[in-house]
Amino acid sequence: MSEGKSTTGGGAVESVQQETRKFPPPAGFASGAHINSMEQYEQMHRESLEDPDKFWGEKAAELHWFKKWSRVLEWNLPDAKWFIGGKLNACYNCVDRQVDAGQGDKTAIVWEGEPIENGQPEVRNLTYNDLKRETSKFANVLKSLGVKKGDRVTLYMPMVPELAIAMLACARVGAAHSIIFGGFSASAIKDRVEDAHSKVIITADGGWRRGKIVPLKQNVDDALEMTDVVENVVTLKRTDNEVAMKAGRDQWWHELMDGASDDCPCEEMDSEDLLFILYTSGTTGKPKGIMHTTGGYMVYTYLTSKYVFDLHPENEDELYWCTADIGWITGHSYIIYGILPNAVPTLMYEGGPNFPAEDRFWDIVERHKVTKFYTAPTAIRAFMKWGEEHVKKHDLSSLQLLGTVGEPINPEAWMWYHRMIGSERCPIVDTWWQTETGGHMLTPLPGATTAVPGSATRPFFGADVAVVEKDGTEVGPNESGLLVIRKPWPSMLRGIYGDRQRFIDTYWSEIEGFYFAGDGARKDGDGNIWVTGRVDDVINVSGHRLGTAEVESALVSHPSVAEAAVVGIPHEIKGTGIAAFVTLKGGQEPTDALKKELIAHVGKEIGAIAKPDQLRFAEGVPKTRSGKIMRRLLRELATSGEVKGDTTTLEDFNVIAKLKGKDEG
Ligand code: ATP
Ligand code: MG
Repeated sequence: MSEGKSTTGGGAVESVQQETRKFPPPAGFASGAHINSMEQYEQMHRESLEDPDKFWGEKAAELHWFKKWSRVLEWNLPDAKWFIGGKLNACYNCVDRQVDAGQGDKTAIVWEGEPIENGQPEVRNLTYNDLKRETSKFANVLKSLGVKKGDRVTLYMPMVPELAIAMLACARVGAAHSIIFGGFSASAIKDRVEDAHSKVIITADGGWRRGKIVPLKQNVDDALEMTDVVENVVTLKRTDNEVAMKAGRDQWWHELMDGASDDCPCEEMDSEDLLFILYTSGTTGKPKGIMHTTGGYMVYTYLTSKYVFDLHPENEDELYWCTADIGWITGHSYIIYGILPNAVPTLMYEGGPNFPAEDRFWDIVERHKVTKFYTAPTAIRAFMKWGEEHVKKHDLSSLQLLGTVGEPINPEAWMWYHRMIGSERCPIVDTWWQTETGGHMLTPLPGATTAVPGSATRPFFGADVAVVEKDGTEVGPNESGLLVIRKPWPSMLRGIYGDRQRFIDTYWSEIEGFYFAGDGARKDGDGNIWVTGRVDDVINVSGHRLGTAEVESALVSHPSVAEAAVVGIPHEIKGTGIAAFVTLKGGQEPTDALKKELIAHVGKEIGAIAKPDQLRFAEGVPKTRSGKIMRRLLRELATSGEVKGDTTTLEDFNVIAKLKGKDEG
């Protein structure tokens, strides 16, 4: 049970969680930060909304442009154009610019492979010079395969430096990449290459994951049995497993690179030229091919990286690590495109967090002396479940800042992160954003914002985020509503590839004039925004709207619980009842007494209305491959005992099978 949390009684709840713990920026941190007071944040935020031309014009000038834009913004709802007429290249800003500035020998990427041999993992450091040479060579390889400006190239690769090289090489020649996370199956590849009309796939023989080889090339071969859009497959040798090579279609990366010239100037791209397509996680259904263009995306990811992670290239020790896979938007924006233009080294790790043991991440932090660390709530909950002993083995004193993204973070998970990883010394940035938003929309600024566990706090510059009713009016303090963005921002999606109508229906039809995020939220009396979960998941018990995050966080605040997922189920009297799926921490026994205790605990934390009607213990809950809880599957399961919805992005089918085998409580 958490101290400092008051409970609301019986039935009176639109909003539930009453988190009162507050964490102002640590004094030592604030003094050296880019943005170091709330006044400064508020003034800049106001300016960014009142005069976007001035604000973004100045910020965009921090990047390299071949030709300056003539106008900053053109807005015809739902279509935004940013930096009109401006010409730039994303790869140039990530790589060549640092070389031009005399920093070619500085480390750009620190990479660590998963396997450990003789007690040592393989580590590679790539400088900006290395990246310039390698991206130029691979850009020439792409050209030799007929890839031109405007084409789409699919990348299905492990987390190795060649993935970064391939994506930057696409940007270099002006081709859009479509990266498919290496955990996806053949049918997911087939769907995505067909949707993107991609004639070229870059892959690898395999990738390492928890000591096993993921057969990437084999999956590509299987996918290409089902479609014939792909003409060329380039395969990197990584794991040396046996693969089939089809004559006329398949070639080896190293053979093509051997003969390639390292001279390939960056293509001058229009600010609004497509940089990439990326499919969403698929938490709510069939993934959408989100389109991002060059200028606005680069400016926004560069600036959010600089301010939210408070990056300091002049600090020689600075080493930033985002644990996401590059196959997700978090990896695109905050391993590569936002970080490299800041001239701060970015760490890439190939494998699993528990290989060879549950302390792998902390071992990496200690050995490389990571300063800024960005991960997901699902990982933090796993660390909590695995136990503190794995963390305590390591010296984490190099860490200066922690971040989280992907789902609402349960306040108890936030506290654990703060205490165990941050030694109560590092600010935590809880960043709310989406594939569609391209970059952080709600986030604390680490030197300015007082953090509150579980809240993503305030909008970033240029983000006009609000919590509204269906008619677009703002809800009152602490009332739940819909999360919207009312003004265009530079890195907003430019559409869903090949599906204009779905773009309009999904984001622009729910609330007139505003971008609708699909998430529910509330704003507290201090102006902090709390994302309470997906609107589709909101539970309406006897007319009270409960956010899934709030009920789950109440469960996670019990010392025995590692993770919880709650969903609404039909209930004769209340209309909707609550079913909870609970994963216990290591060493805890799933007894009936504990079940009763947990139900009572929710009643105490939130109020009787939020008490689960069913509670089941589960070894795991279904998640997307990016680690988000898929409540729609649990809802189906709790309601009908069956799962029929789209499961193509489900991480582990066994979880559903195991849950089906369980009795209801
Ligand atoms: P799909 O749109 O296909 O259902 P998805 O929404 O999971 O998949 P992403 O773009 O990867 O795809 O995830 C964005 C969503 O993740 C947000 O809309 C929100 O629900 C959740 N999210 C991300 N970060 C946070 C955060 N810090 N706090 C709360 N929720 C978050
Ligand atoms: Mg989404």
